[in-house]
This record gives sequence, C-alpha cells and structure tokens, in this order.
Amino acid sequence: MSKKLVALGHGPDRNGGWDPGAGGNGTTEADWLRGPFLTSLKKYADSSIDFYEQNMFANRDAQRVNGYSEIIELHLDAPSTVGGGHIIIHSSKTPDAMDKRLGAMIDKHFGLRGGVMFSKRNNLLNLNVFNNRRIPYRLCELGFITSKANMDHFKANYDQVAKDLIEAILNKKVVDKPKQTNNKPKPAPSTGLIRKGDKGDNVRILQNKLLAAGERLPRFGADGRFGDETEDAVKAFQARRKIKVDGIVGPQTLAELAKVLPKYSRLLSNRSPMLQGNDVRAVQRVVGATADGFYGPISADAVKSYQRKNKLKVDGIVGPQTWSHMFG
Ligand SMILES: [Zn+2]
Repeated sequence: MSKKLVALGHGPDRNGGWDPGAGGNGTTEADWLRGPFLTSLKKYADSSIDFYEQNMFANRDAQRVNGYSEIIELHLDAPSTVGGGHIIIHSSKTPDAMDKRLGAMIDKHFGLRGGVMFSKRNNLLNLNVFNNRRIPYRLCELGFITSKANMDHFKANYDQVAKDLIEAILNKKVVDKPKQTNNKPKPAPSTGLIRKGDKGDNVRILQNKLLAAGERLPRFGADGRFGDETEDAVKAFQARRKIKVDGIVGPQTLAELAKVLPKYSRLLSNRSPMLQGNDVRAVQRVVGATADGFYGPISADAVKSYQRKNKLKVDGIVGPQTWSHMFG
C-alpha cells in the first residue's frame, strides 16, 4: 500500500524553535492543527497515513522524507475575515483526483476563497522541492484562522472536518471508531452523584476541577478520595456559585464547574513569548505552580512532575493526553 504523509503547518522544529504561523480567534495555526483536530485525524487515519508533526519547512525536510506517494500539507490562511479555503499546487500541474476531493471537502466546510478552489504557485519551498522530486504535493489552506465564521465552524465540527479530510485522502468512507481511551479516565457520569466516601478517577478529576476553579485542598490535594476536605471544597464552590450547598456533586455542580473552567483548545508548552491565559492558570493550580497565568519553565517543570507521578509521557507539555488526565 502506498504511504501518504500529512504534514502540519508551522509548529516546533528539531532545533527547539517554534513557529506559530498565523494567529486569530484565540489560537494559532500551529496550536490549532496540533490540538483535538490532530487527535481526530489520527482516529480516522489508517496505517497508510503518517503524520509529520514538526515544521517541515523549518526542518528543510521536504528533500529528505522518503517512501511517500502523496504529501498533504495543512495550513490555515490569514488575514481575510471573509474566509474560505483553497488548495495550492505547483504552477506546472493540473489538479488531480485527490486535489479535487480535498477541494470539495474544504468547500463543504469553509467555502472557497474568492470562489476559487485551486491556486498555482512556484515560489514555495516545499511545493518546489516535491515538484522536483515528482511527488504529488498540495498545500491545503483549510480556511481562514482570522475568519470568525470559519473558526467557529472548525471548533464546533473539528471531528467531522478531520473525518472528511481523511476520507478525501483515502478516497473511501472511514468507519467511526470509538473514542481513543488510552490513559483517559472515565469522566463522572452526568447523571450520577459524587459524594463523601467515593474514590477513584472520578473523584481525582473532580478535585482537579475544584483546584482549577480556585478552591483549596491544602492537606490531601487531588488524591482521588472524597473526604471532609473535598466536601468542604465542594461546599465552598457551591456557595460561591450560589447553588444548593450540600457538598454533593451532581449535574448542577458539574455544570457550574464547566462554566468556570477553560476547555482544551491548544497545546501548552514553555516557549517565547510565554503562553498566557486561563487554561494556563487552571493547569498551574492543579500542578501546584504559582497561578500567574504564564506558562514558563517553572510551570513546565511542575507539569513534568505531574506527568512522572501519573505515568504520562514526561515532556512538560500539556497536550490532549495530559489535559484529559487532569480534567477528564
Ligand atoms: Zn500557514
């Protein structure tokens, strides 16, 4: 079977650099393409698809990657706020069947930039190198990161976009696979109650949420056991949110927690300039770093300790796996 390579635009290179690409609507090309969207791409991909997750351009790897019959590089465009995607192919080419399938998929989700599906260019490094190597390559600008309409759609439908993209590459329907559950603790059932005497991952995740929401667990921390300290923290949270104060966690308390906690939307890593935000602050509260909202070396070290303790990959980066271990 011929192998295909999906390359993600921008991001980290092997010299420790980080190119965020274009930014807009609270994220960057590098972050967005490596977040939950990538998890979904991998979920639908089969073994004929590999992912190049670093910055191929910065690594100058277009000349070096081998064994692929097709290259698909993914980006988001800027700065239009009108939106729409398009596909860049080499000036000497006419669109092939895969180009057309990808174009149709982009049109379906994001519309086309200026109504035009294909742009031809001969002044992009990866495009030229693969053209010289006679390996079919296209650069997909999926939509505009600066378009609220495009990004609202992408954020709400990233799993479907990923599925359609993989189907366009493979030229066949893919089956829905159950959500990957490696290392992912089961979140508390939305109808069940969590209360004093309970223990396990449900409780540990609840405790992390309480910490992230600003409550304190000074003696025992998030130990997975619902004792007096956790009950007090639940009561304090309930009082603060002006809901029934009973120390028992049901749908209403979980809903209030969901309101105040950030959702996973980007990879957190120590880089320059430092990432800043409520997601950083939530993680800092869980790992016991000063909750200043800036992800620097101290936060990264504290995250490494958390990862080591919980037998996760120790890299100081909060990606989907570490995030879901913390917050379900
Ligand atoms: Zn880009």
